[in-house]
Amino acid sequence: MYMSTSEIRTAFLEYFRSQGHQVVPSSSLVPHNDPTLLFTNAGMNQFKDVFLGSDTRNYSRATTAQRCVRAGGKHNDLDNVGYTARHHTFFEMLGNFSFGDYFKHDAIGFAWGFLTEVLQLPKDKLLVTVYQSDDEAYDIWAKEMGIPAERIIRIGDNKGAPYASDNFWQMGDTGPCGPCTEIFYDHGDRIWGGPPGSAEEDGDRFIEIWNVVFMQFNRQADGTMEPLPKPSVDTGMGIERIAAIMQGVHSNYEIDLFQRLIKVVAEITGTQDLENKSLRVIADHIRSCSFLIADGVMPSNEGRGYVLRRIIRRAARHGRLLGAKDAFFYRLVGTLAELMGDAYPELKSQQPVVERVLKQEEEQFSRTLDRGLTLLEDALAGLGDARQIPGDLVFKLYDTYGFPADLTADVVRDRGFEIDEAGFEREMEKQRERAKGASAFTVDYNKQLKIDHTSEFVGYGQLQGESPIT
Ligand code: ATP
Ligand code: MG
Ligand code: MG
Ligand code: MG
Repeated sequence: MYMSTSEIRTAFLEYFRSQGHQVVPSSSLVPHNDPTLLFTNAGMNQFKDVFLGSDTRNYSRATTAQRCVRAGGKHNDLDNVGYTARHHTFFEMLGNFSFGDYFKHDAIGFAWGFLTEVLQLPKDKLLVTVYQSDDEAYDIWAKEMGIPAERIIRIGDNKGAPYASDNFWQMGDTGPCGPCTEIFYDHGDRIWGGPPGSAEEDGDRFIEIWNVVFMQFNRQADGTMEPLPKPSVDTGMGIERIAAIMQGVHSNYEIDLFQRLIKVVAEITGTQDLENKSLRVIADHIRSCSFLIADGVMPSNEGRGYVLRRIIRRAARHGRLLGAKDAFFYRLVGTLAELMGDAYPELKSQQPVVERVLKQEEEQFSRTLDRGLTLLEDALAGLGDARQIPGDLVFKLYDTYGFPADLTADVVRDRGFEIDEAGFEREMEKQRERAKGASAFTVDYNKQLKIDHTSEFVGYGQLQGESPIT
């Protein structure tokens, strides 16, 4: 059964409304009142205090289509864009929430009901994971939903630390957390990849579509797990991933919305080859950039604004790869507003602002982009057999030409080069020392982001995932 992305959104919210859930609007990408969070990256963010019991609502069940950005932090999806079938910097998370109301039984029942009855997905293409010791969830899947044992996978603490598991969701070093169960879809053996928990799980064959979290604890700074006032439920399903399934395609980038965007990027840049990776990157980036600006983020050299700037600059560089001579990125905003403006009216009302900001930012960067690229190419040619770009060059590109280090890494990645992150960080450290009055703090949310604050330079801890500057 084919469904468009917006039909899926409506069907989801209607299904949960009919099950007694309050339909709550998406919150802003800029988290309200939560300095521990870079951008809204999950539907539960706006309900964090409700889970903790320090805020109450006049409903105990809610459902949302939440705009999310995952372009900063420890598990930064920015570097996945263009390389996997399933990751975006901006995506929409469909979710249902129980605040001390229903728990495991209904949470699983609702998810299974939506997928197999409303969307009518074939049951034999779905498999699920549960937290190693969660026999209760296992039994609900096995006995009540009738899933055969070979398609229920237990995942334990596989990352060497207690509760560090794909099936134990935590908000951060502290905050709401609990075991979860996840639902995967098998796109078929033509595609490389293995089931969750296997050595090949990083492939794109078995794609995670829905995470159902049983919120049970408030993790304390010393690692102890304090029970929440009431066991609760938080779920999240990426709309683009479920749209791919409903539209009979494998990659998120093949769904209705992305096909339209990609076509327009191809037209504007005169690109014939619709498989060109840069088209996907640009189609992804126009969404995160437009929504971030519409939510009030402006390009800058620190914090949230620097993440935005980095994404715009990557898009500008991919435009160059496709042959764009002038600022082109802003010309996509109108198409995006057409495609998503009904669900997100702010996109329409803010369109002129978004266009102006993107145009200005791209024009400004264009002045140094070509020169920086030339410098980089010359350096590459002089590297001989070395496969690492020296840190002082990465720093020079950053400092003089405005190349965020992740952009440099992106430029050289396909040719088998990587950047010397440690060397770059040493240069950054020197620069920081030169700056007076530096103060630093680090926060961790959902193990996904590190925000680094210094008076000179903020928000650079997102480089290549594992090396936050703290
Ligand atoms: P993955 O393992 O594929 O990176 P995840 O485990 O990080 O996903 P969760 O934090 O569990 O994702 O988020 C809930 C759901 O949101 C996922 O099951 C997926 O459908 C969707 N999702 C997560 N990250 C992205 C992304 N970068 N782009 C699109 N959808 C995403
Ligand atoms: Mg992820
Ligand atoms: Mg996962
Ligand atoms: Mg997950």
